[in-house]
Amino acid sequence: MTNNKIFASIITIGDELLIGQTIDTNSAWMAQELNKIGVWVKRRVAVGDTREDIWQALDEEAESSQIILITGGLGPTADDITKPLLCDYFGGKMIVNEQVYEHVKTIFLKLNRPLIERNLKQAEVPDTCEVLMNVRGTAPGMLFRKADRVFISMPGVPHEMKGIMKSSVLPLLQKEFQVPVILHRTLLTAGAGESFIAERIRSWEEALPSHIKLAYLPNYGMVRLRLTTSGIEKEALESDIDRLFLQLQELVKDILIVDTDTPLEKALGDLLIKKNKTLATAESCSGGYIAHLITAIPGSSVYFKGTVVAYAYDVKENLLGVQHETLEVKGAVSEETVTEMLKGLLATTSADYGIATSGIMGPGGGTPDKPVGTVWVAVGSKEKIVAKRLQFRFDRIKNIELTAANAMLMMFQLIENETEK
Ligand code: ATP
Repeated sequence: MTNNKIFASIITIGDELLIGQTIDTNSAWMAQELNKIGVWVKRRVAVGDTREDIWQALDEEAESSQIILITGGLGPTADDITKPLLCDYFGGKMIVNEQVYEHVKTIFLKLNRPLIERNLKQAEVPDTCEVLMNVRGTAPGMLFRKADRVFISMPGVPHEMKGIMKSSVLPLLQKEFQVPVILHRTLLTAGAGESFIAERIRSWEEALPSHIKLAYLPNYGMVRLRLTTSGIEKEALESDIDRLFLQLQELVKDILIVDTDTPLEKALGDLLIKKNKTLATAESCSGGYIAHLITAIPGSSVYFKGTVVAYAYDVKENLLGVQHETLEVKGAVSEETVTEMLKGLLATTSADYGIATSGIMGPGGGTPDKPVGTVWVAVGSKEKIVAKRLQFRFDRIKNIELTAANAMLMMFQLIENETEK
């Protein structure tokens, strides 16, 4: 099947990417979208705002890829050098594109902002390009062809780039290139490390047909397993991968959380919807991060009641009813405290289920018996509460993320076990 592969390169432009000031999320998103339509990403390259480097990147990427996608450096400021460079690279001259000119004027009129010459420059494009309209911004996308290569330049602003990708680039690539299908099936496991899983499924994995690949993707103490295949015969591939995916699910049945590629917070939300139950959180060390993850999922208002970020003793006491003696005698990071936090939360919010967290996130605050990274989590309902001590060994942010992931996992498992009976 390799011969049929369509390769793409992604070039992201900007000094800020090289010094790490801006994280290059564009190329990750673009790679995912290309992958979905069957285009293989050969390389992702970041280059600074330097003419020679961009030129060289275009030359090099065109050697190995049929499709070269470029973001950044299109704005109206002096460091945005991509457009004149592309004009030279593809041997044209700059002209005003009427459609873009009207579009830029309309945007500024709508925003009631003065329009200066510099902004109207956005409407200038090389006469060798096909304009891809950018309804979300002023800098248009530009498509160039050279030999049998397609080069597409888009603005660096992620929201604008995504708009152009969805409305123009992806449909165009699908139309122009005979792309093979790429199929993935992903499941999420918890409670076993990747080497343990690998050992358990070894003979099955070894017997996989050569066109099906298995990837282990560990994160936050959980492991995602992803099967991938690609080719032309969509139906046959689908039937192969679905059959093997069912076998895999059976092999990891006892540690399986979800059989789709969804984040844990979404899986938890889906489970709550299925069971017609609600959730609230009482967060000390996670500082509302669990609530943030849950509320980032569209539709979460159906099952999420709210959170109490109870950092200080008096907030734990006054809003959640934690006993002062408990805090004094057992400490804020203790089984007793998170249990009382949870009981108070369930009493005040009328949620069916709750999560409570309290821990020492670091870098300071550790003691010999409760070192940095010690976290107590309680999850449960009015009928049943489970509390667990966790120990992490990372930096503050990672410890918070791990607390959230583990707490949601505990909640997920409790709801599933409780309602299975
Ligand atoms: P505009 O025309 O709106 O100025 P541009 O094409 O000139 O866009 P840049 O000036 O390179 O794009 O970047 C604009 C902003 O977009 C940057 O400040 C940065 O926040 C974001 N950005 C640029 N490149 C990337 C990238 N690869 N990944 C994520 N964000 C990016």
